[in-house]
Amino acid sequence: MGKPPAGRKFEGACVDLTYEGLGVLKQGKDVVFVEGMFPGDEGEVEFSYSRAGQLFGRVTKLTKLSPDRIDPRCKICHACGGCAFQQLSYPAQLTFKSKKVKEQFRKVGKMDVDVLPCLGMKTPYFYRNKIQMPFGKDRRGHVYCGFYKAGTHIIVPVTKCYIEDERAEKILKTACRLMESMRIEPYDEDRRFGVIRHLLIRASRTSNEIMVVIVTAKDSFPSRGNFVKALVKECPDIKTVVQNINSRATNVILGEKEHILFGRGYIEDTLCGLSFQISSKSFYQTNPVMTEVLYGKAMEAAKLKKTDIAFDAYSGIGTIGLIAAKDVKKVISVELVRAAVKDGIKNAERNHIPNFEMYCDDASSFMVRMAEQRQKVDVLFMDPPRKGSDKRFLDALIKLKPERVVYVSCDCSTLARDVAYIQKSYQIESIQPVDMFPQTPHVETVVGLRRK
Ligand code: SAH
Repeated sequence: MGKPPAGRKFEGACVDLTYEGLGVLKQGKDVVFVEGMFPGDEGEVEFSYSRAGQLFGRVTKLTKLSPDRIDPRCKICHACGGCAFQQLSYPAQLTFKSKKVKEQFRKVGKMDVDVLPCLGMKTPYFYRNKIQMPFGKDRRGHVYCGFYKAGTHIIVPVTKCYIEDERAEKILKTACRLMESMRIEPYDEDRRFGVIRHLLIRASRTSNEIMVVIVTAKDSFPSRGNFVKALVKECPDIKTVVQNINSRATNVILGEKEHILFGRGYIEDTLCGLSFQISSKSFYQTNPVMTEVLYGKAMEAAKLKKTDIAFDAYSGIGTIGLIAAKDVKKVISVELVRAAVKDGIKNAERNHIPNFEMYCDDASSFMVRMAEQRQKVDVLFMDPPRKGSDKRFLDALIKLKPERVVYVSCDCSTLARDVAYIQKSYQIESIQPVDMFPQTPHVETVVGLRRK
């Protein structure tokens, strides 16, 4: 029996969701993954193959709707692909996320664990404080911005996004209009022609400050001064404008070189009672409402004592370590990105926190050195990027023997892999998912561990 031919149709029922949020259907011996189908949906599905030859299904008709379905607020969520869950009720999204974390521990970590219910938002919309959009130009010369359709470089025009800070809308519209009238060309990736590649907007929740980063292909561009002046005049919440130059053919949005065109080059935001400066290249959590919940859970799991020495690895602008500082004797932080370390040191000063040290280094190399020098660490916070930590870091962790480890993760698959790696020495005390990314299948998780 060969593979089913592309185009053949079948009637089926969706029984589950994958890790990425695709509907799972069974058809004979084949398991078919279908975008936009949810458990309880039934319908007609057509077999298809991706360019890499992977079998998937395309829904052509829905005959029965899942009770968890809702009308999506965003009418272009099908085309944009950024919000795979706009059509799924919020309670069902939260249930999916807890189950997903448990499943990854079972599949990847070969561990059977208890996972707490995922903590959600009261209003799970308009939460993102960081917005980045590419620009395009239609045949009539109108400049538009939007999102890349998943897996492509086709820009889906977006005029209203339901998960982003609402203040971004006016800035983006104004930027499009100004580019059009000043004849500033959007950058065309295929032809490698044009000026502005992306606009990155960062909005503070508490200070009403907004940063705009104009990502350009070349260092200088015509009408730069006038463009910035007009943009700031029309959108007075913009407190700083930075130009970032990215001349490479790459999917990475930001380049190395930057000029501050207006203001201080950073904005301020408040989290858990502390004030933070954030510059363009520094990592900052994208859902400020749930970040406070996340950090609260991380502090709870850390069970801090006044005599503790805490270590914050992958620390960004120092948020977790600085929030912990008042409850411990000393905090040591390590972060790879120099701009973030600069922000972190400033953030300790601005909050008058003296018992805080921050280093710019690779977390694993730093950790290995700490273990070799037999430094005393009582609590370790670790919050690595999606790819998780590595064996060097985890081996050094086991050697360093902190009594408590709090692992904050935005990818529960690498989280499960890393926790499984240290499970001989550390036992899990709690696994708490937090919904940092409503309307999407992504989930953030805080795991509290104690040395055996
Ligand atoms: N804890 C912070 C940042 C988490 S994001 C917060 O809550 O905001 C992960 C951070 O790890 C990013 O700031 C990234 O720059 C940093 N990072 C990535 N690889 C690293 C490495 N090898 N060593 C140290 N830091 C790294």
